[in-house]
Amino acid sequence: MSRAGEAGQFMRAIKQRLLPVYYLSTIPLRKWLRRRLAERGRAPVSVLMYHRVARDCPASWCTSLAAFRRHVAWLQRHCTVLSLAQVQESLFCGRWTSRPAAAITFDDGYADNLRALADLLEAGMPFTYFVTTENIRTGAPFEHDLARGYRFRPNTPAEIRALADAGVEIGSHGWTHAEFHRLSPGELARQLEFSKKWLEDLIGQPVRALSVPFGHREHVTPWVILAARRAGYDIVCSAYGRYNLPFRHRFHILRFAGDNCLWRLRNRLTIDPRLLHRTLREYLPSDAALDVDAVVEPRPREPARGVTESFPSGSLPILSLGEDLQILSWHETNGESATTALTPLDIIADSQS
Ligand SMILES: [Zn+2]
Repeated sequence: MSRAGEAGQFMRAIKQRLLPVYYLSTIPLRKWLRRRLAERGRAPVSVLMYHRVARDCPASWCTSLAAFRRHVAWLQRHCTVLSLAQVQESLFCGRWTSRPAAAITFDDGYADNLRALADLLEAGMPFTYFVTTENIRTGAPFEHDLARGYRFRPNTPAEIRALADAGVEIGSHGWTHAEFHRLSPGELARQLEFSKKWLEDLIGQPVRALSVPFGHREHVTPWVILAARRAGYDIVCSAYGRYNLPFRHRFHILRFAGDNCLWRLRNRLTIDPRLLHRTLREYLPSDAALDVDAVVEPRPREPARGVTESFPSGSLPILSLGEDLQILSWHETNGESATTALTPLDIIADSQS
């Protein structure tokens, strides 16, 4: 391993050790932040993304069954677990409670997940199961696994049908596990439409959710989002590792990758101030800016005015934990984000109001 690689690994190990300290020392701030956000209907919603959950855990996209069970037990005690439809409702109407809210999703469709899925069904927790249809249809292992020497078995069509019959939402993860942004418009449309139609024929129910393979920023372009809307999807999930904030997106849902670390899960779901700050800073085009609904039902466009975002102007306290601890007030006016620093007196006055 190179010196830079070793240094990076060392820093990650240090951060991992410090995470419990950071989490525990910021609990009062988190409570205050969640309360302030909930008072404005802007309590964030976290969406988790798992891939393969099994007793063995040989790769970074695998979660051990023991760790997953700890996650489920913690979610049961501390969170409200929502379906993706309920997440969308919260993002549209606002979330007015400070209790952390989360949704659970799985990508790809691994046969080894069945034990974990049974646990969720027993616990009465909703979840969405995204599958790559060609692997389900043929039983062939996923190419990204084969490239690393693994031959994990995908779910069978009968298993997917049984999950749907049990009330699980089934979503598309593409026809093949392709990088959507590299496809021609025709190839992308086929990926989106064929997988949706094949799944709907299999389970006898509408398929309304899509999870974009790989799901990073380069894969989820505005063009991919609009193509998904055109293909009839109501939800597109990415893997941006950020929060979903009410009044901003409800078509494009951002997700966190689930791993073995319960501290990381706690840190994210109770609203990590630094992560919230990053979510706000990395401003994504909203549904209104992309005009996702116009793709489905063309309507006359209003003349362009100054304000293009559906998110109302206002402010919300966020924390910047860079070199200096700083609490910022976030404003949005005419689609432009801006931050101003709050003084300690502002914060005390705000917390007493
Ligand atoms: Zn995938």
